[in-house]
Amino acid sequence: MKIYLAQNAGFCFGVERALRIAYETVKNSKIPIYTLGPLIHNPQVVEQLRTKGIIPLETLDNIKKGILIIRSHGISPSIVEHAKEKGFTIVDATCPFVKQAQEKAKMLKQKGYQVVILGEREHPEVEGILGFAGKDAVCINNHTDIKNMSLSNKIGVVAQTTQSMEMLSLVVSELIKITLEVRVFNTICTSTQQRQKAALKLAREVGCMIIVGGKNSANTKRLAALVKEKKTSTYHIETEKELKKNWFSGVGKAGVTGGASTPDWMIQRVIDEIKKLTEAKFVCKGTEVRQKLI
Ligand code: SF4
Repeated sequence: MKIYLAQNAGFCFGVERALRIAYETVKNSKIPIYTLGPLIHNPQVVEQLRTKGIIPLETLDNIKKGILIIRSHGISPSIVEHAKEKGFTIVDATCPFVKQAQEKAKMLKQKGYQVVILGEREHPEVEGILGFAGKDAVCINNHTDIKNMSLSNKIGVVAQTTQSMEMLSLVVSELIKITLEVRVFNTICTSTQQRQKAALKLAREVGCMIIVGGKNSANTKRLAALVKEKKTSTYHIETEKELKKNWFSGVGKAGVTGGASTPDWMIQRVIDEIKKLTEAKFVCKGTEVRQKLI
């Protein structure tokens, strides 16, 4: 069997940037450092960060002060204000793509549009964007949600950065049927699109796809769901320990990719373990897996 790595597998620009900011902050600081929620949606990386002194919090309630790193998903402006009032120093690692979605939502609200956010309501990135979008903003999961909604005649649309273009187009076609004006900003990030395209391309060429990344990572879950739709046997795993030898029986070519919050070293471990289980040969098709530990 041969193993192929998809192009654009693993860390995206925004995650790499957030980690770089976090490590620089640790190096230059003597006071406690926190994140509200995990810095990135990858439990193994979050554990590494904890050992360096970056502590993920559920809430700021019982903490008096310290440094609060805003993760790449961003945060609602009201929470930032609350943290500042409590005495926290803010280090902003919000991904520029997410920031753009926040700014577009804010601008639409100021111009009198009711903001519709395409995304997962519970996802921290969406919660953050909602904080900029005004009280009448709504979040929808897909185009079918629109049918039962009563919306304004002036709708502004932004998307969670990890959404697919197909779904954004479907949402816009539904909205235009029920309202007078729809203004849309494509806030889907290019890293997500590239990662999805490369994974789908590889999925067409192989017998089985391994998607590596946090089970709590929206972009990794979406990647796995999209690949699964192509009827290729698809397995979403967090670590190499979850691999099963029988997934590869009768498979001539296996594909591997990783979500935007998956470190290269985890992708490398998965490739090494597949090699061990199957005696496969690794054919690097996409980017070289960088060996460095971030
Ligand atoms: S997936 Fe895109 S939006 Fe999300 S952190 Fe990465 S670059 Fe930023």
